Amino acid sequence: MTDTSTKHDAQTIANPVVRAAANAAAKTPLTLLGLGAMGTALARTWLAAGHPLTVWNRTPGKAAALAAEGALVAASPAEAVAASGLIVVCLLDHAGVGSALEGLDLTGKDLVDLTTGTPADGRARAAWARERGARFLDGGIMGTPSMMGTPAAGGYVFYSGSPDLFGEHRSTLEVPAGARFVGSDPGHAALHDVALLSAMTGLFAGISHAYALIGGEDVSPKDLAPLLAEWLGAMGFFAGAAAERLVSGDFTSGVESNLAMQVTGSATLLRTAAEQGVSTELIGPYLDLMRERLAADPAAHAGEDNAGAITLLRR
Ligand code: NDP
Repeated sequence: MTDTSTKHDAQTIANPVVRAAANAAAKTPLTLLGLGAMGTALARTWLAAGHPLTVWNRTPGKAAALAAEGALVAASPAEAVAASGLIVVCLLDHAGVGSALEGLDLTGKDLVDLTTGTPADGRARAAWARERGARFLDGGIMGTPSMMGTPAAGGYVFYSGSPDLFGEHRSTLEVPAGARFVGSDPGHAALHDVALLSAMTGLFAGISHAYALIGGEDVSPKDLAPLLAEWLGAMGFFAGAAAERLVSGDFTSGVESNLAMQVTGSATLLRTAAEQGVSTELIGPYLDLMRERLAADPAAHAGEDNAGAITLLRR
């Protein structure tokens, strides 16, 4: 379970020829299960960095190009798992991971699951791996395949689970994208991943509504695009401001845009949608939540920041 990449001795480092050979030899060998769009992108970064890589995919043809680039192709998940101490899995879903790994000997292995799942999936897989004698790390990839191996693109992976596994294999795991360890609870990588993806979903919904509003008008989406990006960037302050209020429990001090004003203003958003012939199905639920917060106790909530509405969501 040891990452040998740190084991250079002084003599090796002094001789460039020996050093190059030793560096190649020191790269941690690993196995990757899953060669979809993401798995293939991950594989290429480890091959390019000189890591001995064994791959397996349910549909064997997808491994051919990687074999030409130096990957060893395993004929079965069992063969793939036997080939390395570090096993990375990137399949479509949690069920697929279960079926691929079913019945395999994982004793002494380090299992890293980059398949998108829920916090409960991550915790269940950690317990499952522990029962089979493996250390476990769950991962949530924040990036697209083309962002892997391209540090400037800003992609990274949330990891949670075994701190020892993460510490020993960090340099290998950081080859495709940056690594952010968010704790030993194996559910927390997925929790962070899904929290950010959920926020992104709201962002996409708002942008979609804005483009629908200008449809049929003499306003080009290309002209609105930079304005949208600029405005959404400026409104990003809400993440930090809402966090302060949630932690302090104070939703009323220093409020500039109070809830009563925002609820009144929301009628303008709804009337504009009606005038433009646009459905309010994407923005309506959030406006309803603000109204619900105000209606629950107008005297108490009228002067609040709209972060107070967040407290209604945990039902
Ligand atoms: P793809 O649809 O491109 O590939 C899915 C992979 O899962 C294939 O290798 C497929 O094998 C395999 N698979 C599906 N079901 C099973 C099963 N029952 N048993 C064995 N193998 C199975 O998906 P991606 O590679 O894009 O995504 C992989 C993971 O990465 C997902 O969890 C996704 O959410 C996550 N991710 C993807 C991102 C992206 O932009 N693509 C971004 C961030 C995370 P086969 O080739 O045989 O069909």
